[in-house]
Amino acid sequence: MKYRKLNIKDVMAVIVRLIILVIIEIGTAMVLLPGHIIIWVILMVLLVVWIVNWHCHNFGYECDKCGHKQMISFLKEFGSINLVNRKYLKCKKCKKWSRAKLLGIDKK
Ligand SMILES: [Zn+2]
Repeated sequence: MKYRKLNIKDVMAVIVRLIILVIIEIGTAMVLLPGHIIIWVILMVLLVVWIVNWHCHNFGYECDKCGHKQMISFLKEFGSINLVNRKYLKCKKCKKWSRAKLLGIDKK
């Protein structure tokens, strides 16, 4: 696995997934709401889980303090603060908190 800088394809991949999420939510809202709001909410949660899960398998973060690169778990991805192309993370190596830079990952 190799870390690399983000490119336009990464940005597009995120945008496409967000658009898919919105389209599905709006489409199903017309069918399911207001009677089946629980099913609709579950669907929304599943879609968010899908995107977050995809994101944590395809992106990594670089520590702002020591340059250590790491991937993070689903829960961390979900539960930490995003700052556009950065994330507020604690580094596994130097144990310091920093605004870690988002990186793409090349899978083999
Ligand atoms: Zn570090």
